[in-house]
Amino acid sequence: MTTARPTPRLPLRPELAGETPYGAPQLDVPVLLNVNENPYAPPAAVVAEIADAVTRAAHGLNRYPDRDFRELRGGLAAYLTRESGVPGLDADHLWAANGSNEVMLHLLQAFAGPGRTAVSFAPTYSMYPEYARDTFTGWIEGRRRDDFTLDVDHVLATIAEVRPAVVLLASPNNPTGTALALAEVERVLAATSASGPDGASTVVVVDEAYAEFRRPATPSALELLADHPYLAVTRTMSKAFALAGARVGYLAAAPALVDALRVVRLPYHLSAVTQAVALAALRHTDTLLGQVAVLREERDSLVTWLRGKGLDAADSDANFVLFGTFEDRERVWQSLLDAGVLIRVVGPPGWLRVSVGTPQENAAFRAALEEVLEP
Ligand SMILES: *Cc1c(COP(=O)(O)O)cnc(C)c1O
Repeated sequence: MTTARPTPRLPLRPELAGETPYGAPQLDVPVLLNVNENPYAPPAAVVAEIADAVTRAAHGLNRYPDRDFRELRGGLAAYLTRESGVPGLDADHLWAANGSNEVMLHLLQAFAGPGRTAVSFAPTYSMYPEYARDTFTGWIEGRRRDDFTLDVDHVLATIAEVRPAVVLLASPNNPTGTALALAEVERVLAATSASGPDGASTVVVVDEAYAEFRRPATPSALELLADHPYLAVTRTMSKAFALAGARVGYLAAAPALVDALRVVRLPYHLSAVTQAVALAALRHTDTLLGQVAVLREERDSLVTWLRGKGLDAADSDANFVLFGTFEDRERVWQSLLDAGVLIRVVGPPGWLRVSVGTPQENAAFRAALEEVLEP
């Protein structure tokens, strides 16, 4: 006689029960305007150089890659110096990983963790609470103002109350497109030199994933690095650089902060192939960023067009626009999808987010939305 054995049950961490993986729908439709990618694929000449670099890397794939990827860090420092005009950045100030998502996870692994807290201000990037959950870090979410700007008084009050190890501020913010003024970041930094655990600093992360799309008068927080050893400015090659598929994100910070990240990264986390691809892409910075000006103009005219239709559209320094509001945003989203245009249901109730595509894609979006507004 056999006794019935109970069905095995996985020892899932209780806080993960019922959680679903991050992910916007990946659907096969003609017009993809849902995850803020650059709609322009790398041109053939750049593709050839990348392929060449990968071939050379392939000859050495029996060996582990350069753990500290000094060449790539130097290349990224040179790029940032050129892009922002901020002097004094070199390889020691740079860190990189498989997307800036991993860079920010490294930040929480090194500076947050059990018994500590990370803070951000909603509506903002939906991945931030997941970094906290995955590093056993407490999570506190404050609010942005109704116009999506940051209420710095509220930020400072929250910091004073929570004494967070890490504060995450996206600029331009996703999903709203709102950039921070330098003076706002400065006020936060002035209050965080000893506001963290046990009187240590709070690490202030300014997530500049969309920095290259910012309007001319908007400066980068890189300008504040020299005076603030607890500031980390994260960037990515996924958006303006048109390299989302390569998974390369990076940050600039004081060398001591970068050294702490070297402790928590997994061994050889940045593959030889990734390093080769990123270096080849950096050699073609001007080509890859060549469409940013077009995308910025398209964004500005999209905002104007949406407002002309009587809708609300948030000011945007990024390559997307948050617009609304709709009583039934799911219905609007579905109607656009039925017309072959995929956008994103994200943001406060009633709002939708559309990424800026090519002029043709944006025209398809406008035509599809017009159908919904005036059928
Ligand atoms: C897209 C995005 C990133 C970048 O993600 P990668 O991992 O570098 O592709 C980071 N922060 C925000 C707010 C984003 O929207």
